[in-house]
Amino acid sequence: MKPTDEDRCERAPCPFIAEPVYIESLGAFLMSRYCGDACRDAEWMRRGLETAEPSRDVAEALRQLQALCRLLDARKRPSEIGALLGGEQ
Ligand SMILES: [Zn+2]
Repeated sequence: MKPTDEDRCERAPCPFIAEPVYIESLGAFLMSRYCGDACRDAEWMRRGLETAEPSRDVAEALRQLQALCRLLDARKRPSEIGALLGGEQ
């Protein structure tokens, strides 16, 4: 089956296909919105920063996030970069 645009990771302009994830409590696979944990975490951070009160810290965090997104965009495979937030959350 050929992937369509609808299967595309939601973190634009990420070119990868969103991976199905196994949901233990449902006992089934669901289509994820992102190609992996790194894109999911990057979007989560972006949304948080966009709704934050503008400040120098927020501007700096946004700059770091943009640098991170460039790394994500340079991947050959989604799995090259794992979860950004690790187990610290
Ligand atoms: Zn992605």
